[in-house]
Amino acid sequence: MKKTITLKSKTWKRDSHGLFDYESKETQKHKLMIQENSYVIRKNDTVELEKSLGSTSTGLAYIVSSGSSYKILPLSEPLWKVVRDLKDESSNKAYILKQNDTLKFGRVKYVVKELRSSPSEDMVNAKEIEVDTEGSSCKICLSEVTEPDNPLVSCCHCAGTMKYIHVQCLRMCVAALMTVKNNEKCITYTWKSMSCSLCGEPFPNAVRANGTLYHILSVQRPEIPYFIIEASSTHGNNRGMQIVSLKNSESVMLGRGHDSDMRISDISVSRLHARIKFHQGQFILEDHNSKFGTLVQVNEIELVPNEHLALQCGRSLLTFKLKNS
Ligand SMILES: [Zn+2]
Ligand SMILES: [Zn+2]
Repeated sequence: MKKTITLKSKTWKRDSHGLFDYESKETQKHKLMIQENSYVIRKNDTVELEKSLGSTSTGLAYIVSSGSSYKILPLSEPLWKVVRDLKDESSNKAYILKQNDTLKFGRVKYVVKELRSSPSEDMVNAKEIEVDTEGSSCKICLSEVTEPDNPLVSCCHCAGTMKYIHVQCLRMCVAALMTVKNNEKCITYTWKSMSCSLCGEPFPNAVRANGTLYHILSVQRPEIPYFIIEASSTHGNNRGMQIVSLKNSESVMLGRGHDSDMRISDISVSRLHARIKFHQGQFILEDHNSKFGTLVQVNEIELVPNEHLALQCGRSLLTFKLKNS
């Protein structure tokens, strides 16, 4: 049986930080039918299909048949799942969060670092470090003395007399770069730069030397359930980590407004933008009719017959539906 994909596209006429305005009437709409492998491209404000990529257009996605179905792959820019267009079984517009997901609120990106709903061992991403520091001294305190809980380690590209630093001196450097703010539900750790001031190499969160784990970034973890997300964009002052506990409430509101639990200060973020709730052991992300959307990055995604799939790519919104024709 032959299958056809219907692609409805909307392109926001303004080109602003790859945003799509979900409230704007100034959009260019198109409907296309797809039956074979195709590139979805944008020429000016128009979404079209091509057999190959030209140089005058922006490649948005590649649609490729895969067995009896179709897959959608990103091209030059990332593809984002649109949370407000998702439907779960109870037809809520919601997305179940997974570790390492990249989320976008307006233009501000976060990576999900930790989702913890049951007590378990700390999963720390430690940097493995070889220790052979005979005759070396610490670049901060200049001492050669080491203790079992305070070895000299090399954790960046600095060399020579600048190579080694005590674990405790490193912790002090990291702590000095960080500010901590506390409110009822969130602990916010922010920093302008978390890297070596000499070589620019980012500091590790933890190091493992001679089989022993040393935490460098000491963040205070609340009681379960909680989640940790880390800012990954460079917009505004949104650098750092947010640790949010859902022990005493069902959900937290994310947004630019003072009444949100987790504040994201960027003009592209709505005052009450999105909600994260904890329900039946899962962390669920919901959009709150935000102007510029709540998005989750996807690498490749398979079309499910008769289900809508809404993806944003830059200022274009692409809605796919696979049908037997
Ligand atoms: Zn030292
Ligand atoms: Zn360095």
